[in-house]
Amino acid sequence: MSFSVSVRAGIVVTGTEVLTGRVQDRNGPWLADQLLELGVELRHITLCGDRPADIEAQLRFLADEGVDLIITSGGLGPTADDMTVEVVARFCERELVLDDALEVKIGDIVTGLMTRFPGVDLDAVRAANRKQALVPAGAVVLDPVGTAPGVVVPGSPTVVVLPGPPRELQPMWDAAVTTDAVQAAIADRTPFEQQTVRMFGLPESGLADTLRAAESSVDGFEHLEITTCLRRGELEIVTRYEPRYAGVYTDLMTALRDRHPREIFSEDGALVDDQIAGLLEGRRIATAESCTGGLLAARLTERPGSSAYVVGGVVTYSDAAKVELLGVDPALIAQHGAVSEPVADAMARGALDRFGSDTAVAITGIAGPGGGTATKPVGTVCFSVALAEGAESSTVTRTMTMPGNRSDVRERSTTIAMHLLRRILVGGG
Ligand code: ATP
Ligand code: MG
Repeated sequence: MSFSVSVRAGIVVTGTEVLTGRVQDRNGPWLADQLLELGVELRHITLCGDRPADIEAQLRFLADEGVDLIITSGGLGPTADDMTVEVVARFCERELVLDDALEVKIGDIVTGLMTRFPGVDLDAVRAANRKQALVPAGAVVLDPVGTAPGVVVPGSPTVVVLPGPPRELQPMWDAAVTTDAVQAAIADRTPFEQQTVRMFGLPESGLADTLRAAESSVDGFEHLEITTCLRRGELEIVTRYEPRYAGVYTDLMTALRDRHPREIFSEDGALVDDQIAGLLEGRRIATAESCTGGLLAARLTERPGSSAYVVGGVVTYSDAAKVELLGVDPALIAQHGAVSEPVADAMARGALDRFGSDTAVAITGIAGPGGGTATKPVGTVCFSVALAEGAESSTVTRTMTMPGNRSDVRERSTTIAMHLLRRILVGGG
């Protein structure tokens, strides 16, 4: 008989600024991802303000739940409201002791920083920072990334105390994982494989149907842990499994490909943006946008090296701008309206000419609110992708109507444009 032991963890995010929503928590999600990759099962992320009693309550709760590892974020600074280390020491029943070597190290960092602020009372600053050299007896000290050191307190549960600023927390977590104390706490974890598949043009319910069917047709389906979510109009399917069930995943993929040959665009987790970056190699692209306000151009230029293939883009809101900057025939606008396929095509052709590019994408639509008519409601968007070479087959035009507010429509529109572009570049039409 075989059974898998799992290692369970909890994360305590602290900080009144995070609790009140002024700062959005980035540490919980980041640590969650790290734990997932390690094969540690995350049970809870809790969030509380900078109150010792509240922090202690979260630690108590997680310990009572039987987690093996607790990671805290925040409250390591020199100020009075930073007291996570003190609370953790009490919770782990360890005394706080002054680490002399650490005090010297922090003193050097602070002195270095203070040369930028002449006139500051160095002694007072050092005194405030002395507090940061107090660590729970027997704890492993994690070197400061900023000025605050972190600590790992071995035990059951083992507690890893990390600073709040994400740029400090992330490298310190990497260091924490290499300590014997953390390695011991996670020794019994189950290694998992994780695969990501992306689909476009399939509603969530369609995927749910397919997965229901796979449940009976794929042998060992229950050994796959599948999570699906809708992001930016794309379906993301993340599957985790123990390495010995790799064959089950292969069978699931066969079933998915069978039913959705057109909708699956990525089997290796690559984003459409990454694929487009590859497909545009050796080409020159230009954009012409109205309702998306330049968001497509922004997305196309996000990848390193995009300056090699993105020539430029224009945002033309008014009819006059479409005519003057893109050479759209005013008669076309008068006849079909600015949000129409003929105008989208003319905008794309205009972008090709204007920028001397070989590839162009145009988006013209009504992102609302307040615009729209009965025949072209808010959310109506026309797309055109044009290639300079070839003749009639070189333009693909689509009209879509999508729900949501302005930012939903804009985001969805850029995603649709990316996928249209992808299809025409891979030759799928
Ligand atoms: P410092 O020495 O900077 O005070 P600290 O460990 O005491 O470090 P906090 O005081 O809790 O950290 O947070 C400092 C700042 O770091 C916050 O104001 C916030 O900008 C950022 N920060 C803290 N926690 C988070 C979080 N969970 N997600 C994103 N940013 C955070
Ligand atoms: Mg602080």
